[in-house]
Amino acid sequence: MKQEERGNVVPFAPKDARENTTEPAESAEAIELVDTHTHLNDEKFADDVPDAVARARAAGVTRCINMGDTLESSKKAVELAHAYEGLFAGVGIHPEEARELTADDDAQLAKWAEDEKVVCIGEIGLDYYWVKDEPMRELQRKIFIHQLDLARQLHLPVCIHDRDAHADTLAILKKEGQGIPTVLHCYSGSVEMAREFLKIGCYLGTDGPLTFKNASKLLNVIREMPLDRLLVETDAPYMAPVPMRGRRNEPAFVRFIAEKVAELRSMTLADVARATTTNAEAIYPRLRRAEKR
Ligand SMILES: [Zn+2]
Repeated sequence: MKQEERGNVVPFAPKDARENTTEPAESAEAIELVDTHTHLNDEKFADDVPDAVARARAAGVTRCINMGDTLESSKKAVELAHAYEGLFAGVGIHPEEARELTADDDAQLAKWAEDEKVVCIGEIGLDYYWVKDEPMRELQRKIFIHQLDLARQLHLPVCIHDRDAHADTLAILKKEGQGIPTVLHCYSGSVEMAREFLKIGCYLGTDGPLTFKNASKLLNVIREMPLDRLLVETDAPYMAPVPMRGRRNEPAFVRFIAEKVAELRSMTLADVARATTTNAEAIYPRLRRAEKR
């Protein structure tokens, strides 16, 4: 997600140094989380990817998927996946970056799809929040459908960005996305809409906004949805969860989101970690085959 939210780099706070949290039963070593949607390929991490990866590992976040927005950021995601254990990539064109795709672009995406560390086509989808112009929305729909088609041909799952475009996203997935394993990242719709996406087989990703004060309808979605379809993610560098809100987000903070899920569902953090990590491996099979640490 692209939005203006800037902040300073902060190390992952040790559990006992945090305010307003209860002491966990589990240590960081005992849990294993996957940040299923992040952007260490963003320029805001230009200087400290190694540190961010180290802080993630210290927090129990052993694997991360860096999503592409453009061909350039997709390339960077693939490079990072090969430079670090535990990093994986999604490749694709984000709706805010929508442009006509050429045969060369398709060939590049297809080439990356052969790479075992590329786990999906993503992030792709629709953004009607930032894009109000109807011809641009039409172009978004066109390249969204085009990339769904590519994913089907390349036998890869897709990671979907849907902001203020729930009805069109659902309609397109129903018509054009059949048979493609699908994650709806940063789910932000109603309980009713969540049911519709779950009905067609989607997994839902939740991130920072779950911890925000105004998260009322999202709380119900996360409380009520089937646990075996839930993923946790940061969408870093944006939307840092409470208590890091306002700062630059990073994969280590996915732990705060998992803690919120645990609280909402009356589960332990270890059980949330186990379930969401199993889900991540189910929807993104290439996570399974690679080394974990
Ligand atoms: Zn994103």
